[in-house]
Amino acid sequence: MDWHTATSPEIAAMTEHQVCIIPVGCLERHADHLPTGCDGLVAQRFAQLAAEREPCVVLPPLYYAIHFAGRNASGAICMPTITFLQYLKSICDDVARNGFKKILLVNAHGGNSATLTAFLHLIADKGKDYAVFVPPIFLCSDAIAKVKETSVTGHACEIETSIGLHLFPEHVRKEAIPDRLSDSLKDYDVAPASTQLDWYGSFPDQYAGDARAATAGKGRQIVEAQVAALVELVRKIKKDTRVLELLEQYRSDMADPKASVTELTHGRRTS
Ligand SMILES: [Zn+2]
Repeated sequence: MDWHTATSPEIAAMTEHQVCIIPVGCLERHADHLPTGCDGLVAQRFAQLAAEREPCVVLPPLYYAIHFAGRNASGAICMPTITFLQYLKSICDDVARNGFKKILLVNAHGGNSATLTAFLHLIADKGKDYAVFVPPIFLCSDAIAKVKETSVTGHACEIETSIGLHLFPEHVRKEAIPDRLSDSLKDYDVAPASTQLDWYGSFPDQYAGDARAATAGKGRQIVEAQVAALVELVRKIKKDTRVLELLEQYRSDMADPKASVTELTHGRRTS
């Protein structure tokens, strides 16, 4: 069920299912053939399709996110990292206030991944009564390996374009798919160090791969495998009681660290 089209009593009734999904995307160039909001559209559809099979609530996608290395191209809207972290925290606080204590972030934009990990660190010591779950972007590497025909993938590529062709063909400009493979243009070597310019230095037009090999059929196989894995994850999260128990324990230990140290010398408590 979508949060934004549900009524207030319907949202209240959904709290028995505990889990709320927040899809996370961004606004950025995706070569010349995919829409700037591709990642938010993908994350939302993954979440909605999973929710159809395992009841949970799906918030509207967060399109305003992190993509500093893509500001060279028209279409990028980028939030300052601290602003993003604070507004994500505010959203999670209010989701939990509405009764959903398990929040699953379904992210489809690689540029958000490090910040979402930072978000888990940020809220760890805030005494929250809700848990946040952050899986990797793709949960279906077998399905991707099965359909993949191109050697380079990464952005607006065979994989992402196939997903778009399956989920929202009306937004894919097939005629604008570049007539070339886009491999990394990076012309410096500071490995194994990373720099803030690695993405721009490698793929300045936000195109990594070869979308000419994309088909809606490949997209369907990937989406089906991804949604099946997401359904399994939602079920696992629903079933789990231990994360919220440990969270409660951590909150009380934080309030009285000395007592916690004394108790823990006798082994971890189990309840
Ligand atoms: Zn994307």
